Amino acid sequence: MKRPTILVLGAGYGGLSTVVNLQKLVGTDEADIILVNKNDYHYESTWLHEASAGTLRPDQVRYDIQGVINKSKVQFVKATVEGIDVNTKKVATSAGEYTYDYLVIGLGFEGETFGITGLDKYALSIANVNAARQIRDHIEYQFATWSTEENRDDARLTIVVGGAGFSGIEFLGELGNRIPELCEEYDVPKEKVRVVCVEAAPMVLPGFDPELVEYAVRQLEAKGIEFSIGTPVVEATPEGVKIKKGEEEFEFIKAGTVVWAAGVRGNRLIETSGIENMRARVKVEKDMRAPGFPDVFIVGDCALMINEETNRPYPPTAQIAMQQAVTVAKNIVALMKGENTKEFVPELKGTVCSLGEHDAIGDVMGRKLTGTKASIMKKVIDNRALFMIGGVPLVLKKGKFKL
Ligand SMILES: Cc1cc2nc3c(=O)[nH]c(=O)nc-3n(C[C@H](O)[C@H](O)[C@H](O)COP(=O)(O)OP(=O)(O)OC[C@H]3O[C@@H](n4cnc5c(N)ncnc54)[C@H](O)[C@@H]3O)c2cc1C
Repeated sequence: MKRPTILVLGAGYGGLSTVVNLQKLVGTDEADIILVNKNDYHYESTWLHEASAGTLRPDQVRYDIQGVINKSKVQFVKATVEGIDVNTKKVATSAGEYTYDYLVIGLGFEGETFGITGLDKYALSIANVNAARQIRDHIEYQFATWSTEENRDDARLTIVVGGAGFSGIEFLGELGNRIPELCEEYDVPKEKVRVVCVEAAPMVLPGFDPELVEYAVRQLEAKGIEFSIGTPVVEATPEGVKIKKGEEEFEFIKAGTVVWAAGVRGNRLIETSGIENMRARVKVEKDMRAPGFPDVFIVGDCALMINEETNRPYPPTAQIAMQQAVTVAKNIVALMKGENTKEFVPELKGTVCSLGEHDAIGDVMGRKLTGTKASIMKKVIDNRALFMIGGVPLVLKKGKFKL
């Protein structure tokens, strides 16, 4: 009998964890496992705010995929997925066409600009490791140019961050630490620099404990970060952003750098795949399969799951993506054996939001944490994610140990 082909698209937290779990469960001659990813490395999306601010080097947030897969069981293909058709079971990639018996889609997130004019053109987005490098270099370029130009334009030193959600706040925390270093490096007086966080919603970090949010805002404000809350961005231009401050009241913030961190959607390839979706996210069945396609699993940010307790979707997180991957791997093996699949049950351990290298806020297993304790917990979580994929060797190579 022909061995089934398991095709996994994307080597992010969801896809790579699925493969690492599959290679433990499937014998060499039991299936052909193929992993397709755009790059030959995996990047820690949860560390991209650090690479974007320049507090971590881009190579520190990524590692080789070949180093963590079992090459006798998994064929890795470095290619860009160009199209998915679940009706004909065909996946088009830059390295040719693939077909499958079981498909796992783990192609991750894309920035959501909600149709706001100019954002996709003039704002930068913390989307992947190269986009993070671009943000870091862009900010440095603005500082370097300011310090050399004759008629200095102080707006070069203004950074607008769109979004006071998780990634926006984590990025602001890193900027709070990085700006003083940049000022010293480029001889820029600190008072010339403005970092403004603009948020449409009436609050910072929705869903977080109000006391922890208050702590986070206080800490960031102490580092000179300004907050403009309840003031949606209505337009981005090459000069900055226009925000709405009241019924008929607008303000233009002139800025050399605009980073948009206000919302994510699933990968747009989902929209043409033949699977029903909402903003490229698939409302998956309880066992992580795509509705109507029993041989297709969705993992990570492309999957949408409703938390029945709150009747709201679970937030797209690495924590959930890695947990889903364990269920997806087990369910594929169950299908191969003709057994029933199991339901995915998230085990939410809490959330820690970093505010820079030595500060954070966290709600972990019902305990509220701030400052050094929360920051240590964040590093434990980061190292645990490495351990789950590459074991102790990967933790020793890429782990965070500086307290
Ligand atoms: C700044 C920031 C901080 C965050 N902090 C946290 C946190 O503290 N805790 C937490 O739990 N979550 C956090 N998140 C969210 C978390 O990063 C995502 O939920 C997680 O990365 C989703 O995993 P994924 O596997 O779905 O996608 P990803 O990890 O994004 O991986 C997708 C993979 O698919 C590849 N790919 C994409 N398109 C193609 C294509 N066309 N062809 C081939 N390959 C392709 C990509 O290169 C990538 O390797 C953060 C996100 C950001 C941006």
